Amino acid sequence: MLGLMQEWPLTVDRILDHAAKNFSHREVVTRNVESGQLTRTTYEAIWKRAKQVTNALQGHGVRLGDRVATLAWNTERHMEVWYGAMGMGAVLHTVNPRLFPEQIAWIINHAEDQILFFDTTFAPIVDKIAPLLTTVKTYVSLTDRDHAPKLNSTHVVAFEDFIAGQPYDARWGGFDENTACGLCYTSGTTGDPKGVLYSHRSNVIHAMAANQTDCFGAGANDVVLPVVPMFHANAWAIAFVAPMCGAKLVMPGAKLDGQSVYELLEGEKVTFTAAVPTVWLMLLNYMQENKLKLSTLKRVAIGGSAVPERVLRAFEQDYGVEVIHAWGMTEMSPIGTIGKLLPEHYASDEESQIKAKLKQGRALFTVDMKIVDDEGREKPHDGKAFGRLLVRGPAVARSYFKNAGAKNERGECLEACGFFDTGDVATLDELGIMQITDRAKDVIKSGGEWISSIDIENIAVGAEGVANAAVIGVAHPKWDERPLLIIEPKPGAQPTKEQLLAFLDGKIAKWWMPDDVVLTEKIPLGATGKINKLALRETFKDYRLPSTQAAE
Ligand code: AMP
Repeated sequence: MLGLMQEWPLTVDRILDHAAKNFSHREVVTRNVESGQLTRTTYEAIWKRAKQVTNALQGHGVRLGDRVATLAWNTERHMEVWYGAMGMGAVLHTVNPRLFPEQIAWIINHAEDQILFFDTTFAPIVDKIAPLLTTVKTYVSLTDRDHAPKLNSTHVVAFEDFIAGQPYDARWGGFDENTACGLCYTSGTTGDPKGVLYSHRSNVIHAMAANQTDCFGAGANDVVLPVVPMFHANAWAIAFVAPMCGAKLVMPGAKLDGQSVYELLEGEKVTFTAAVPTVWLMLLNYMQENKLKLSTLKRVAIGGSAVPERVLRAFEQDYGVEVIHAWGMTEMSPIGTIGKLLPEHYASDEESQIKAKLKQGRALFTVDMKIVDDEGREKPHDGKAFGRLLVRGPAVARSYFKNAGAKNERGECLEACGFFDTGDVATLDELGIMQITDRAKDVIKSGGEWISSIDIENIAVGAEGVANAAVIGVAHPKWDERPLLIIEPKPGAQPTKEQLLAFLDGKIAKWWMPDDVVLTEKIPLGATGKINKLALRETFKDYRLPSTQAAE
């Protein structure tokens, strides 16, 4: 017997409809990409202009299911294109501008994007790749006519001209909730990038899950600053969450440095913000150097890579801001787990709580997780046994776009048990708290046992004079691999191997102790701000550890 409730497909156009109806005058503030000045608009105005975008897209021949690309910062115009495209059932493809231009061209061609919207910052990239693009018919610069760049390789339309004169009414929704809605390619450290194709239903469900009290917990009294870009899995759902709950939205545009973020946090009275650790390291350094305080910020979501202990301690102990440690991935829309503590943790002392918060946390409702060995057998939940972390849920990818990386004849990227392999290696404890111990490919295999590079990095980054730390496995004749600690010192600092190893002593198992330490000017970061281990492994592929010489 079926239930007797109304048909109301879960499509994301309803989110902006809701905001325009219920929070019409709530502000959306943007740091303008060209001037750096703040501009102010409202959900109602964004809704109207997004309808104009829909009409303009349709006028350019875009139809249900067609892909439309953005190469853009977090701005109000990006929101307008976002909802204008998604609302009519086109697929919004957010392209990561930090990728190499050739990779960007490959992705846009693979997605068969029809129109490319771009911020003026990225005009040089567009100028370079336009001759390589096979499907893009129209190039729209997300600015007005006065600021639109003139490119050598193609004609550019200014966004304000693109939507000028278009009517405010356009039909949104009316299609199946499983219709494709957004496309985001994974950074693809091996092989070609793969497209994750979100549906309307998956985005709506994931946004509601991500905004549970124990996760973002945002409401109409919040002021939300997504520093995490919209091209990273929907700004971790915030592009949906904020209008859904009526929070004031603050968009950082092109400026993500410590000073610019601090000015927005204080100037706009931000209560909740989200970004990867690198952003917070820049902010904390800026605040520490200038002896500044935070007066309104209550919660900060940190994910994308593990929260370094000194970032956690600084926010919670020095600034009184609650850290929400989140783990997830593009294929999970992206949030999978959340590090909010449980009553069992609160019953213990503060240091134990800090330790618990450094773990990646427990599954959100809508995420089912397990850890398995190489044969797919489940590992115990004792906080010690490592295993491959598998997940499933309504906002977890089943297949990649055009069946890339398919593992079965149905084109799915799933294990035989129907779960998605995250590529992470993790433990689960008795309370269901997950801790990432490594990427499957980064784990250091020493004498048949696994060493977690991430654990060592997180501790090493807290040593004096250390700006960033990376640990990779280096070939070893006896142990197969041994850890090498690579340190990027803070400007002017020169920490020694002895000091660094002494700092690690007692904090990690003896056999995890790096066999050597090297200082490097800059640890390479990938397009999503994470340490580029592939590049480091390449640089140090012939590195001979002192212990190698001893073993020979
Ligand atoms: P991406 O799809 O680019 O967001 O990358 C997802 C990967 O980032 C995950 O599979 C993890 O390896 C890593 N990651 C994300 N969040 C965390 C976290 N909180 N701690 C450790 N690793 C993380």
